[in-house]
Amino acid sequence: MSQAILALDQGTTSSRAVVFDAAGTVLGLAQRELPQIYPRPGWVEQDPETIWATQVSTAREALSAAGLSARDVVALGITNQRETTVVWDRETGHPVHNAIVWQDRRTSDFCARARREGLEPLFRGRTGLILDPYFSGTKIRWLLDNVDGARARAERGELLFGTVDSWLIWKLTGGRLHVTDASNASRTLCYNVHARGWDEKLLGILRVPASMLPVIVPSAGVVAETDPALFGASVPIAGIAGDQQAALFGQRCTVPGRVKNTYGTGCFMLMHTGERVPQSEHQLLSTVAWTRDARTEYALEGSVFVAGAAIQWLRDGLGIIGSAPEVEALAGSVPDTAGVMFVPAFTGLGAPHWDPLARGTITGITRGTTRAHIARAALESIAYQTADILECMQADTAIPLADLRVDGGATRNDLLMQFQADVLGVPVLRAANAESTAFGAALLAGRAVGFWADDGALDGLWRVERQFDPGRSADAMTEARAQWRRAVERARG
Ligand code: ADP
Repeated sequence: MSQAILALDQGTTSSRAVVFDAAGTVLGLAQRELPQIYPRPGWVEQDPETIWATQVSTAREALSAAGLSARDVVALGITNQRETTVVWDRETGHPVHNAIVWQDRRTSDFCARARREGLEPLFRGRTGLILDPYFSGTKIRWLLDNVDGARARAERGELLFGTVDSWLIWKLTGGRLHVTDASNASRTLCYNVHARGWDEKLLGILRVPASMLPVIVPSAGVVAETDPALFGASVPIAGIAGDQQAALFGQRCTVPGRVKNTYGTGCFMLMHTGERVPQSEHQLLSTVAWTRDARTEYALEGSVFVAGAAIQWLRDGLGIIGSAPEVEALAGSVPDTAGVMFVPAFTGLGAPHWDPLARGTITGITRGTTRAHIARAALESIAYQTADILECMQADTAIPLADLRVDGGATRNDLLMQFQADVLGVPVLRAANAESTAFGAALLAGRAVGFWADDGALDGLWRVERQFDPGRSADAMTEARAQWRRAVERARG
């Protein structure tokens, strides 16, 4: 009998399901787009029933692509877009509203007011986060205040809140189980990362009744069996983690100081920091990486808002490339940017600058500047921004960087990866398994049920597809980064 692990990867733009065997090989994969709903500028919603429907159908499709049945699946792992907020009725299972997606900014005013009232240090101290609409807590509050009758129903204990992991598990178990894991809970502004539980004081400020909240279970461990009607047999649900934390686990960043960076629209960088809550002097986020075997491990997180999106802008805004992969040949047609610097601060600057009023700039243009220089500068900006955050992480943890493990769409660009290694002065390791997120969820679940006997077996599944070693002199790169810093100064509001 063949045996496999099924990973559900519920992302922002699509639901995916991947079947892995014991060697970590992908046996089957399915993906369905998820429609986005934009009711007003700055608002982003999704239909929770569509999230569920696309996820369950991809699971069935992935199993059938692998030629397996549910009986062959020894465990199921779930990873998900984080912070996205669903509220539903405990009895009927009906959502009271669309899901409010993490990108949604509708609670900006509330966050600004709370900051003015001096509440940021309290939230930051207890949750490791900043007071920003990004996180779930203020979205729950908005739903209770704005959906007819919701607050009264919530106070009567009739409504449940969940991030997407909770919602999927609720559906997978036929409404029997309302749980989440700490990696997801730590993105809500309601979870105390030191006390490792929901925080009553913060719930009071956010006006979220505790009865709505899921029970927090380990990221690795069997929590329930799926409803047998769904896949033809029940499957143990044994792994849960938010997408970035799952990718960290999939990239085997399980010792303090190890970092992964995912290069997509933006970049998401997480550094494993061990069993102590990291403290950042640079406004990086402290987050739970995962909990397992009664241990809680933490990570420091930073993100670059505009990474691959700068390449999309070359394509859609400037029209100097026809598709994202074309940027590599264009940028490679010149040996360097000839002094051109591109700071893609389209929506302001994040860590370590934190300047919402900054805007994109292209500096150093001469009569000889061509679209190739601009394209190269756009690519290099991704590497410089990554280096800026890694520098903060190293300063916060006093752990030097040994190498950088990378994944995501833009890592297919060899020129970018080589430049990243040059800027950082350490090797950049591109993982063979492009599915780090789903892979991480599969590893959490498979390890929990003994499909893999120990963590060494998990480490053995991670392989480098290509290693990029630093190739330029440290002096040249120091000068280049100084030039980047001058350009950033000019982009500031
Ligand atoms: P997301 O999950 O954020 O949608 P993906 O991991 O699918 O992102 O990566 C897509 C992003 O990567 C896009 O922003 C695109 O511009 C960028 N990208 C894709 N291929 C390349 C490439 N060869 N070089 C540079 N950027 C690329």
